[in-house]
Amino acid sequence: MADSPSREPLVSRTIGDVRREVAAQRGQGRRVGCVPTMGALHAGHLSLIEAARAECDHVVVTLFVNPTQFGPNEDFHEYPRTWEADLRACRDASVDVIFYPEAETMYPPGFQTGVEVAGLSDVLEGASRPGHFRGVATVVLKLFNIVQPDVAYFGAKDFQQQVILRRMGRDLNVPVEIRTCPTVREEDGLALSSRNKYLTAEQRQAALALSQSLAAARERLLGGEMDVNAVQAEMQRRLQSTPGVELDYAVIADPETLKELVRPQADMVALVAARVGNTRLIDNMPVRLKSEKC
Ligand code: AMP
Repeated sequence: MADSPSREPLVSRTIGDVRREVAAQRGQGRRVGCVPTMGALHAGHLSLIEAARAECDHVVVTLFVNPTQFGPNEDFHEYPRTWEADLRACRDASVDVIFYPEAETMYPPGFQTGVEVAGLSDVLEGASRPGHFRGVATVVLKLFNIVQPDVAYFGAKDFQQQVILRRMGRDLNVPVEIRTCPTVREEDGLALSSRNKYLTAEQRQAALALSQSLAAARERLLGGEMDVNAVQAEMQRRLQSTPGVELDYAVIADPETLKELVRPQADMVALVAARVGNTRLIDNMPVRLKSEKC
């Protein structure tokens, strides 16, 4: 049997185009899902698209390397841009619309406004990357207002990001349901990331220390360890003792407030960030204790 030909996604570069298309779909009672990305699509992104495909009738992928979420010394210019491959991946995943705006479309001259989610944006990634989450929250709210989806899909890989976006949604009464999908990993545990492209073979090996330290912390907490500090210290030791890895943070935190924990609780998340060579990597793992252990 011949394969059914994959549909060509509509590529929309203007706000008017994507709005018209989505309005027409919604007018026919279709449920619209949106997957915001910066492109360089990998299996992690595709898992979000699949989730959207499964729950929605119309799937919009946004593809925009957002300049305002990069610091002045970060990798905005080096960030991988792989339009042809991204288009193919979207076609194969039966994406309906790709919103692929120019920077000037998103930030025309005179642009002044920003969304600040206080507190949550100042810790962990926010402490190391000042202004990062202001850039993220602002662009995501703009994308929500442009696309007007029913549901939007984010990865647990960027754990703090989805916490902040959920807070923003509640605080600003944004009528978009937010879904968080599990982190997709390589077989050896490395979390997929567009930035893994920067790693040499040796650095990639060293980067395994991130997921390994998280898995060890998770095991220890699931095994009944009560000393959260000791678990954090072990994660930090493991990362610091790996040649080529420069630790930023390794913590056990509350998954909603992101506050560091002093004792175990039912729902926790272990989060790490480290530099491997010039590449900053983040990873995290949820830790859920069975209720009888708390
Ligand atoms: P990015 O293109 O890096 O901005 O990521 C776009 C979306 O894909 C974000 O919601 C990320 O959290 C998500 N994502 C990135 N890597 C992964 C992964 N390994 N597993 C699941 N989702 C991911």
